[in-house]
Amino acid sequence: MRPKFVAGNWKMYTSASSAKALATTVAMSLKGDKRVMVAVCPPFPWLSVVAEALEGTSVLLGGQNCHFEKEGAYTGEVSPIMLREIGCQYVIIGHSERRHGLGETDEFLNKKAKAALEAGLKVIFCVGELLSEREANRTEKVLETQLTHGLAGLTAAQMQSVVLAYEPVWAIGTGKVATPEQAQAAHAFIRGKLGEQFDAGTAAHVQIQYGGSVKPDNAAGLMSLPDVDGALVGGASLKADQFLAIVNAAIG
Ligand code: PEP
Repeated sequence: MRPKFVAGNWKMYTSASSAKALATTVAMSLKGDKRVMVAVCPPFPWLSVVAEALEGTSVLLGGQNCHFEKEGAYTGEVSPIMLREIGCQYVIIGHSERRHGLGETDEFLNKKAKAALEAGLKVIFCVGELLSEREANRTEKVLETQLTHGLAGLTAAQMQSVVLAYEPVWAIGTGKVATPEQAQAAHAFIRGKLGEQFDAGTAAHVQIQYGGSVKPDNAAGLMSLPDVDGALVGGASLKADQFLAIVNAAIG
């Protein structure tokens, strides 16, 4: 039985004080409830203040990105070791805003995933198709390529520390959510591919989150699907009441 996992991606929003308040409200409201795994991924500058707010609570901390090197002359970058040191357990790799907005390739993301795992982080690895790719019936091909190259060289043991997030790009921040049929079909396809790329045990074990305009009113429907194991939430994770309602929807 895969536990549900709801993660909030705060993107480039919040201030130091609003980040602290949001993290505190989420953690205090959950009161250590472990029926659903919950993580928040604040902007880098607020990681330490949020780590402090989450100390001793059940809420996990994640970075939104990392570099693939441990250290070096990489101005503006943050290494996975730094994320570990500040208290992160997770890091998001391959978000579409980095794939498509910043041109990050599958090969580049593969290096990041490997480095993050080597540093002891767990990885939320995002995949998903553009609207044009869905309309051209290329969704499965796109997902297959992203999985094959993005997770290339990872071992089944390392996959125990990887969470997949299926995020159709056309649903991110648009208010357009995948239908339950579209979401379940994509998740089942991803799980099948994990079975081929790794093994049946890995496929059965890996959590696959859905991401793309998840809100309190659609969360329960999505997360009750057999292959949807939680949600990666953008906009709605910035409002404590909405995020908590989505977490509650995951409890069922
Ligand atoms: C995201 O940022 O991963 C995301 C899914 O955003 P939103 O929930 O706002 O669509």
